[in-house]
Amino acid sequence: MALVNEHFLKLPNNYLFSDIAKKVNAFRVSHPKKDIIRLGIGDVTQPLPQASIEAMHKAVDELANKNTFRGYGPEQGYDFLIDAILKNDYASRGVHLEPSEIFVSDGAKSDTGNIGDILRHDNSIGVTDPIYPVYIDSNVMCGRAGVLEDGKWSNVIYLPCLSENNFIPSIPNRRIDILYLCYPNNPTGTVISKAELKKWVNYALENDTLILYDAAYEAYIQDPEIPHSIYEIKGAKKVAIEFRSFSKTAGFTGVRCGYTIVPKELTAATLTGERIPLNRLWNRRQCTKFNGTSYITQRGAEAIYSPEGKEQTKATINYYMTNAKIMKEGLESTGLKVFGGENAPYLWVKTPRGISSWKFFEQMLYEAHVVGTPGVGFGPSGEGYIRLTAFGERNDCEEAMKRIRKWIL
Ligand SMILES: *Cc1c(COP(=O)(O)O)cnc(C)c1O
Repeated sequence: MALVNEHFLKLPNNYLFSDIAKKVNAFRVSHPKKDIIRLGIGDVTQPLPQASIEAMHKAVDELANKNTFRGYGPEQGYDFLIDAILKNDYASRGVHLEPSEIFVSDGAKSDTGNIGDILRHDNSIGVTDPIYPVYIDSNVMCGRAGVLEDGKWSNVIYLPCLSENNFIPSIPNRRIDILYLCYPNNPTGTVISKAELKKWVNYALENDTLILYDAAYEAYIQDPEIPHSIYEIKGAKKVAIEFRSFSKTAGFTGVRCGYTIVPKELTAATLTGERIPLNRLWNRRQCTKFNGTSYITQRGAEAIYSPEGKEQTKATINYYMTNAKIMKEGLESTGLKVFGGENAPYLWVKTPRGISSWKFFEQMLYEAHVVGTPGVGFGPSGEGYIRLTAFGERNDCEEAMKRIRKWIL
């Protein structure tokens, strides 16, 4: 008899996006003539940079020829991409990494979800709240999160991020074994300063905590004082793994490519206290369970570091960030409190008069015909907020703001 991994049965069904779809459909049926603007989407909408498209076409042609054909590549990624990452994403910011500290993958969701493979099941975990759901759900699946009680997992420490603390979680007064941080943040669109991040690195050094740092949105940072990588903080290589993705940076959500940094000096303990380098374990994990990102994809990713590629990705990011600016100004002009949207493609809007996330979602749908994402769907501290994304079309953003102004004012 095959037995299932019963930890999976503890996961509540995630109805967030299907509940949204149901409510939008119900509105559409009763109001067939109204056109609806969707600002809830968490996916990019603009096409790939031309440089990547050309590089991928060329790579396909190479695979079509016996002399330039390539089969399995290195599990860790091709040197051409690793070198481009080292030089452009790290050396340029004064961070020096070795090629063997970089693992190219099919995206940050897989890596943030799979990293738990190399860590014991009984580590305690800490998350900022609200949160990207992958961090918690992947821990539930291996039993690390404990049991769900009143909407919270028993072995998860929640660090509330609210307007009251400027969305900067306060350092807990107890130890955490593994801590997830995501900056710029999804869903709140807020960022962390070097000084605040330094506090977390010092906390980790003092408490022997492993930080899992998701920097999927670093390319959206506009303020030159905001850190792009946790390794800009002294000592971070001893305590942190960093995840990056080409999804939001260069429209690779459908192409699939990201990478993870596991520094050589980063270790974790065995029960007897022996220190084990995590780089070695992650390398072993990847070589066993992953066979590399496709050659075509990696050539496409490499091309975003060419002069044309850099310009093209910057132009697309500017397009989204101009949307964010238009949206932020439009919403603020109605008196709403808006967070994020300056260094990230997300706006985190406080609902007025303490209305619940879902109530405000419905009012905005019925009165302005604009769809957002209820903040409570990202965790208990998301209640009383709604997330809007800047990944839409310019016209839609402008029209949505007109409608929201008309509704609220
Ligand atoms: C979109 C996103 C990612 C990227 O995931 P991919 O699997 O690389 O597409 C990672 N982390 C967060 C928080 C995200 O929102």
